[in-house]
Amino acid sequence: MDRIREEIRKRNEAAAAGTLTSTKRRIVELSKLAQDLWCTRCNVPLSLRDLLEEEQHGLVFLMIVKCWKCDVKYLEKTGKESADKKQIFDMNSKLANGKYMFE
Ligand SMILES: [Zn+2]
Repeated sequence: MDRIREEIRKRNEAAAAGTLTSTKRRIVELSKLAQDLWCTRCNVPLSLRDLLEEEQHGLVFLMIVKCWKCDVKYLEKTGKESADKKQIFDMNSKLANGKYMFE
């Protein structure tokens, strides 16, 4: 029970600070995320500490991340989209096909 109260307290603090909105675990295509977390306006890396919102789509999260320098908001994705860009993510397709083996 104390652990749950502590988790709620942390989430409330994070929400008040406008930082991380969720404590869920995520599977991330790290090379994609590392490449995408970049403010093209300021030419600086974005920080996940500036995560404003996120939405889960299967294994993939869509995240709104604000640039710490200019406040421009970027839509970032934790997984690659399929080649036809129809909002189908490779991770979800592999999972549905039973192929998800971290490759
Ligand atoms: Zn910026």
